[in-house]
Amino acid sequence: MTVRTADGAASVDRAMAAMSEAGVRLIALSWVDNAGIGRVKTVPLARLPRLAVHGVGMSPVFDTFLVDDSMARTDGYGGPVGDLLLLPDLHRLTRLAAQPGWAWAPADRYSQDGEPYPGCHRSFVNRVVRAAAGQGLSLRMGFETEWSVGPGALGEGPAYGLSRLADSGAYLLDIVDALTAQGVEVLQIHPEYEPGQFEISTVPEAPLDAADTAVLVRHTVRAVSHAHGLRASFAPLPGHSGIGNGGHVHLSLWRGEKNLMHGGTGPRGMTPDGEAFLAGLLRSLPALTGVGCPSPASYLRLAPSSWAGAYRCWGWENREAALRFITGPAGEAAQRANAELKCFDQAANPYLVVGSVIAAGLAGREDALRLPAEFTDDPAHADPGELARSGIERLPTGLAEAVRHLRGSVVLRKAMGDHLFDALLAVREAEESLFADRSRAETVDATRRRY
Ligand code: GLU
Ligand code: MG
Repeated sequence: MTVRTADGAASVDRAMAAMSEAGVRLIALSWVDNAGIGRVKTVPLARLPRLAVHGVGMSPVFDTFLVDDSMARTDGYGGPVGDLLLLPDLHRLTRLAAQPGWAWAPADRYSQDGEPYPGCHRSFVNRVVRAAAGQGLSLRMGFETEWSVGPGALGEGPAYGLSRLADSGAYLLDIVDALTAQGVEVLQIHPEYEPGQFEISTVPEAPLDAADTAVLVRHTVRAVSHAHGLRASFAPLPGHSGIGNGGHVHLSLWRGEKNLMHGGTGPRGMTPDGEAFLAGLLRSLPALTGVGCPSPASYLRLAPSSWAGAYRCWGWENREAALRFITGPAGEAAQRANAELKCFDQAANPYLVVGSVIAAGLAGREDALRLPAEFTDDPAHADPGELARSGIERLPTGLAEAVRHLRGSVVLRKAMGDHLFDALLAVREAEESLFADRSRAETVDATRRRY
């Protein structure tokens, strides 16, 4: 079960009671670094009262870690000196159903004096969510999780093939059962395009919850895979050929109970606020690619005509547009209308993704931006002249290009703050150099087991 109670000692007591009753003995306290890797410290349940107040130490040097556990060399970050505190968010303390005896909580990072740490990714999300709330706005977001399993032939067969459920059905059922027991509401699960590739989607939530859920879903898939003798990979391109694993993000903007993606006079029924928000995303998309497609491997996936959204454009139900607009079924459109950013993958830190997306959207609203005309075809098949006239271009085709856009983004620097932004840039630049001389196959091999 998940403990979602008010803060304070009472909630610590309740969490202790609930977790002991569920047989929990160890708590995994995790956060996601600038390389998109979840890092962990674990603490016995008996220590929870102390942990909830004083946290557990972890070095700030992890801000400079790269995907291969080497460290970016910077003047301002890293080194062996200093310590931070990881504090659990008890609202998300969850028994890990696929790992009996274990619970998990996402951690916020604080200085030893108890000040919020400027490099903390969850605090970043809280800041932009507060900025949105200051304008009377809130968001509902959700990640689609795609992954591939090996070794062996589980889920061999045609894309989305019914036949693939014959051997993978029990595995998928175990994943859904574990997530349900952990309070995660599943919308869909199915075999994806490639043999051994699957996808799960979960209900839209508040932005911080959506990012936490993304972490929990991936961990749960890993644990259930392990129990089935499999290894799950969330890498952008897990194999040497074929389609990659996306980390698409769905989002809708709300004012109270009103979905601003629906019932307006703008394109496809958007309200002016909804349109301006999405126009802000489109404007910042090349820079956002540096956040949401953060690995050299990301650009092996982000290819035309593979539903990865390699072009900077939007379109109604267009799976080749980086920004796909979804109006939803007629009877449910007021609730369901939303936009999907298809270009991102799961090498990305989900907290950085949700925070950056909101910041870019709010900036669009601040500037009262309008969307260009929608694009209703696969841009890869369009006449280049037509694309140019419509202002449609390929998103960055490599990390170096994405980092150049990211470095120049005033919107994202301002939203993240210098500390977080510069650490992220340092990691992105160092990963770019780390992989600069590697072939496609070497890049795939070096990232397959890291995400
Ligand atoms: N696997 C595709 C990707 O890399 C996405 C397929 C889909 O649209 O579900 O993003
Ligand atoms: Mg998919």
